[in-house]
Amino acid sequence: MPIRWRLTVFNALVLGAVLLALGLALFLLSRGALFSGIEEDARDRALAAAETVESGEDLAPDEAERLSLGGIFVVIRDGQGQILDQTVNSVPRQEIQDPVWSQALETGQPVGGTASYSPSEPDYVYAVPVNPPESSARVVEAGRSYESATETLETFTVILVGAILAAVLLSVGGAYLLARAALSPVSAVARTARRITESDLSKRLPVVRPKDELGLLTATINKLLGRLEAAFARQEKALSQQRRFAADASHELRTPLTSITGYARMLRDWGLEDPKTAREGIVAILEESERMRGLVESLLTLARGDADTSLELAPGDLGAVAVDAAKTARAAADGKIAVEYSPPGKPVEVSFDQARIRQAAVILLDNAVKYTPEGGKVVVRVGQENGWATLEVSDTGIGIPEDELPLVFKRFHRADQARTQSASQGGAGLGLSIARQIAEAHGGRIEAKSKPGEGSTFTLWIPWSKPTP
Ligand code: ADP
Repeated sequence: MPIRWRLTVFNALVLGAVLLALGLALFLLSRGALFSGIEEDARDRALAAAETVESGEDLAPDEAERLSLGGIFVVIRDGQGQILDQTVNSVPRQEIQDPVWSQALETGQPVGGTASYSPSEPDYVYAVPVNPPESSARVVEAGRSYESATETLETFTVILVGAILAAVLLSVGGAYLLARAALSPVSAVARTARRITESDLSKRLPVVRPKDELGLLTATINKLLGRLEAAFARQEKALSQQRRFAADASHELRTPLTSITGYARMLRDWGLEDPKTAREGIVAILEESERMRGLVESLLTLARGDADTSLELAPGDLGAVAVDAAKTARAAADGKIAVEYSPPGKPVEVSFDQARIRQAAVILLDNAVKYTPEGGKVVVRVGQENGWATLEVSDTGIGIPEDELPLVFKRFHRADQARTQSASQGGAGLGLSIARQIAEAHGGRIEAKSKPGEGSTFTLWIPWSKPTP
């Protein structure tokens, strides 16, 4: 059953029950009041008439008239129940068993009870035993029919039932209209909600009355939709980045594989007879394999970094890491480029993942050596500044054009080959991405400054304490 009907029925039942109980109480109270009024009147008149009879007087016409006011009849009987006198409005009596007057005569006490003197309704009769000295009167009765009270009660009941029905109907109608109006936005919300799909989360539910419960609920759902939309957008972006990454990676792996296959074919077809060609082919295959190994390692490093950013943090001297990485770079420079370590004023002690920061330093130094012509100079420094530890690698190399600077940290981004002296100089364009990933995992960043033709400076920033995620 729809909510509006349930509300309406519940309202009708509760209101109906309350009104019915009230009506019943009112009916019983009115009935009691009306009936006891009749009984009191009859008793008063019976006592008054008994007093008159007891004093030996007859019921004079004016006295009789006074006593019978308000539809009350008075009957005087002797010891056998024979009527000696009665008011003019006395109704023709019917034979009933054990009448009230006989009970009064038997007990010698005034007795009240019902008697069926009137044709339709019962009467209330009050009988008082008397014993006047010079009369045979022995009992005086006064009575009154319940008819008027019953009629009043009937009218009252009709009005009461009508009023209860009208109130219930009005309240049911009002409750239905109110429930329908209050719940009307639900259909609109349901309609819109049906149109919201995974591919289109941009729709929002209509907020009809922002301040009522439904309005608050809809606004909350809208906020939830907003968060879902943002989450889906982020996921979509990450997915497309991953797709591009996978495509680029396959492309990069295909190049050395093609060369390896080419050299292997050459060796198979005619290289074996010519030792010189054979050696050349084998050297080329080894070089390409080495390139592939490097590439696969870089890809693995990136993939691991994407999946898990946990670090093995330990306090250590950043300078020691710089010295170590400089040593590796110096060996790679083979004396053609000077690789120097410029020590800081005081040691830079910070908490970091030694292996990973060393890897980042090696990448920066490796690039500096790669992109610096013979005779140039590469300097590595460590320092501290406003809550950050820094590792800076500067070179006197070919530099990076301004428009390319923001791109160098992108995966697979490589400089225009024309700028680098030979194609073999460049890697796969993953080194700086890995360095940035390492910096970010530490809660830090990496920045590049460069002037084409003059040199570049890459700075790695590590916060003193990694912010808790
Ligand atoms: P790669 O393996 O090609 O060096 P990286 O991600 O390390 O990839 O670097 C991306 C590009 O940034 C390089 O192709 C190069 O053009 C440029 N680059 C990086 N370091 C330097 C540097 N010290 N001097 C000039 N260019 C640089």
